[in-house]
Order: sequence, then C-alpha cells, then structure tokens
Amino acid sequence: MTSPAQAPPGTLRLGRFGGIDLLIRPSLLLMAAVLVYLFAPRFASDNTTGAGTDAYVLAALFVLALYISVLVHEIAHVVLARRYRMPVSSITLHLLGGETAIEGESRSPAQEFWTSVVGPLTSLAIGAIAWVLARGMDGGNAHTVMQAVATVNILVGAINLVPGLPLDGGRVFRAIIWALTGNEATGIRAAAWVGRVVAVVAVAIPFIWLARGDDDATSVDLVLGLLIGWFLWTGAGQALRGADRTARLSAINARGLADAGTEPPADAPSLSADLSGVALLRAMAATPSDVYRLTESDGRTYGQLRAGRVDAAYREGHPGKGSV
Ligand SMILES: [Zn+2]
Repeated sequence: MTSPAQAPPGTLRLGRFGGIDLLIRPSLLLMAAVLVYLFAPRFASDNTTGAGTDAYVLAALFVLALYISVLVHEIAHVVLARRYRMPVSSITLHLLGGETAIEGESRSPAQEFWTSVVGPLTSLAIGAIAWVLARGMDGGNAHTVMQAVATVNILVGAINLVPGLPLDGGRVFRAIIWALTGNEATGIRAAAWVGRVVAVVAVAIPFIWLARGDDDATSVDLVLGLLIGWFLWTGAGQALRGADRTARLSAINARGLADAGTEPPADAPSLSADLSGVALLRAMAATPSDVYRLTESDGRTYGQLRAGRVDAAYREGHPGKGSV
C-alpha cells in the first residue's frame, strides 16, 4: 500500500484494478474496529448453535461483508459512468462508506440520474438477496451474519436515496431539478440545501431521543449523529461552491466573447460559434490555441475568439454578452 499523489495525506492504496485506484482512508480502519466492538455483543446474544465461535470473529465477518457491499455499490457507479464515457480515477472507502471519483461533469441530467441512482439500487438488491439467503438458512451463525448484511444494505440503500447532496439521492434530485429547469446550477443548489437540512436533522435526532428519555439512545448515537451531520454539511457546502463554478461555466458562450467580424489568422483552428459552457472548454482543450476562428453552421466566419478572454470570463464571472 502506498500513498497516492492527489489523495489526502494518510490515504492507503490497496491496488489498481481496471485502471482505477482503490483507496482506503485510515478512518475506515478506525470505524471497522468501532463497528466490530459495537456489533460483537449482538452476535454473542444471537449465537445459539455455534458454541465456541467467537462473537468478535462473527462481527468482523459482518463488517468485512459490509465493506465489500459498499465496494460493490461503488463499482455499480463506475460501470454506469464508464458506459457514459466519463473517466473514473479512483474508488475511496472511508469512515461513512465509499466515494467514486468521476472526472468531468455529467453531460446530461439523464446521465447524472442513472450514474447516481444505480448505487442505492445495488445496495437494495444486495440487501434483498442476502435477506432471501438468510431465510433459507435455519438459524446459526451464517444466518445471523447474513441477516445483518441484509439489514445494513437495505439501510445503506434507503439512506442514500435521501434527496440531499452529497448523498446519491441528492445527485438524483439534482438531476431531476436540472431536467425540469434546464439549469444545472439550480439543481445543485436545491439538492445541496436539502443536504444541509438533512445534516441538521441527523444531528438533532439523537438529541431528541435522549431528551425524550429513550432507553435505546446512547452517547454513541450522539457521536454518530454529529459525525454524519458534519459529513453531510461539509459535502453540501462543497456542492454549493461547485454550483457557483457551474453557473459561471454554463454562462460562458463563444459568440458573446468573440470579436465579431474580425478575421482571425489563417491558421487559427475553427470552433462552432454556438458553443458554450463545458462544451466550449472541451473543444478549446482538444485543439489548444491562442486564437480561434468562430464559424456559423453554414461555414461562414462569425469572428475571432481569443482564449485569454474565455479564461478571464470564467475567472471574473463575466460571461460575456449572451445571445440566445
Ligand atoms: Zn453511491
């Protein structure tokens, strides 16, 4: 295991599979130990037939199965992203689950929707399969572990469908709002604010349990609530900053930034005058140049576009004089 270049310090690399780095945050190992400790008593009390089997071994098996389930969930995201030709650089397993790094933005709400929703659906499917397998077993340790795997996968699937960023359900909600309004940034902002509300609720629930004198509520729930709330709040904040960037990007358009009527140098690469946003940046990156010839669909020259003006427009948030 080595530390990969771009990941946060301390990140371990388990290996590289199909061109994708499998990364593990040290927090995952800590969480695994905490989960084994928390679940071991449960397995001990249910342990009716396997006398002598250590409850901690069962709990460790369960936690291993849980993280393998999370990995399969992430692989489902990867399969869909690759189907849409979005490059995937890494899968990171961490404290509260996993994360798949997809490079580049989804090009359409439909791509965003399917790439996101496939994760929770996979967890629910694993949960259903484990539940059916558990029902076929007549008690014993295997049944107990399988039942726990079923429960936890159904929980992971259901929680991930909550429509707030950074959860998968937030990306699904973002895709739906994007499709309805035609504005990606509006979708991100809506889903990020739902994410912040969910963060506050996650912190509040254990406090409400304790205040009501609920016997099952413990200080572990408080810590877990704070942890999940912090994870969601910071994730939603990052998404909101991303929305500003997306709004600036999608407002940039070639025609608005061009010197209309100016004849560009003969060797300047041609771009469509109708390009805007990410598509414009992609086209410029594909043929790097200081100056471009903007052409109409009938091949006539609209004017010249200087790369520096596009850079400046993106940095300053002045998208140029839009033309629809
Ligand atoms: Zn997911």
